[in-house]
Amino acid sequence: MLSLEEAQARVFAAITPMGSEVVPLVSGARRIAAEDAVAGIDLPRFDNSAMDGFAVRSEDVRSASEANPIRLRVNDTVAAGQQSSAIVTPLAAIRVFTGSPMPAGADAVVMQEDTRSAGQFVEVLDSVKPWEHVRFRGEDLKRGETIVRRGEVLTVGRISALAATGSAEIRVGKRPVVALLSTGDELCEPGTPLAPGQIYESNRVMLANLIADAGGIAIPFPLVPDTLAATRAALEKGLSEADAVITTGGVSVGERDFVKAAFEEIGGVQDFWRVAIRPGKPFVFGKWREKFLFGLPGNPVSAFVTFLLLVRPALRQWQGATETGLRRRQAVLGDAIVNSGDRRHFVRVTVDADGVACLAGVQASHTLGSLARSNGLLDLAPHASLRSGEKVDVLHWQAA
Ligand code: AMP
Ligand code: MG
Repeated sequence: MLSLEEAQARVFAAITPMGSEVVPLVSGARRIAAEDAVAGIDLPRFDNSAMDGFAVRSEDVRSASEANPIRLRVNDTVAAGQQSSAIVTPLAAIRVFTGSPMPAGADAVVMQEDTRSAGQFVEVLDSVKPWEHVRFRGEDLKRGETIVRRGEVLTVGRISALAATGSAEIRVGKRPVVALLSTGDELCEPGTPLAPGQIYESNRVMLANLIADAGGIAIPFPLVPDTLAATRAALEKGLSEADAVITTGGVSVGERDFVKAAFEEIGGVQDFWRVAIRPGKPFVFGKWREKFLFGLPGNPVSAFVTFLLLVRPALRQWQGATETGLRRRQAVLGDAIVNSGDRRHFVRVTVDADGVACLAGVQASHTLGSLARSNGLLDLAPHASLRSGEKVDVLHWQAA
């Protein structure tokens, strides 16, 4: 049985990035930058006012106060988007708004709230320091400054900085297309009545969302009955239509577990089977021509954990991501936790706003109540026993 690290290394070794494409920024969220993207212009592009108010010479209003208003002649108005050739001369002002280019001659903006209008004049009721309420050219981002590096995720913040500096599109890694197959005679589509002995199928909807979060494109396939022929046909179709197939169920040692046999019959080559983790021991990774099979266990939490630890990194590497692992955050244990087994256990925990991690409930590989309550996985070594109050690292699958 492989260790998790050995299994991850085998998956990484098999997968090479898929190439890139140019997309509009509006559809760039979560994509991986395929090149460094830089600011096309200085941001701001020109010195401008940070307030609605009056551009002045700070020395003219040095002694201004409620008790000692200083009258300035208002020579012009510059709205945002306009440009004025007027110059602020001694004891004069120009009306400006947030974002108005700074008029020549002025070295500060008095905010409107500190003024009183008086016809052609304005009375200034407070002093301003030189350059107060002025935003300088390039103080935010300099032209040529890197906003996102090749291999980094396009966050919404990075997208907005790119747009503000003039980009309309960006080159990103291509998205892997993944066919999603769930095997099992007992499975029934949610939203339809259950026959005796049937259960609702939940793995495809769970995995489709995790695949989308990881930047991939999921194609859910119809449910696959537990026969060799049906499994073969579904695998062949999935592999021909997608870059990879994820199956759930049918990879264990039961007589009705057909995924490995069907994959081999259609010419697939199994790379490894079984990883020393809990939940998720039965996991198949294999190659068919230039495509891949990730055979996940049927139990929903096993499928969840093996996806996050073994498939998600592959989807990220495919897109050229530098960071392929889950986000790791320190927390303090609120419960004592013991792993009496000899496999590494990924324990569902709920981390609260203060960073205290508590057990999310029953930790069996089929129990979804604890998965629903959890927001992180605690990586618990074999035979480890942790006390309440100990510092631990928790893996998080959510972006924030
Ligand atoms: P298997 O790996 O096929 O033996 O399935 C292990 C357990 O997971 C069984 O109890 C199955 O009923 C359950 N299971 C398998 N696939 C799914 C699925 N897609 N959705 C929900 N439960 C499943
Ligand atoms: Mg099954």
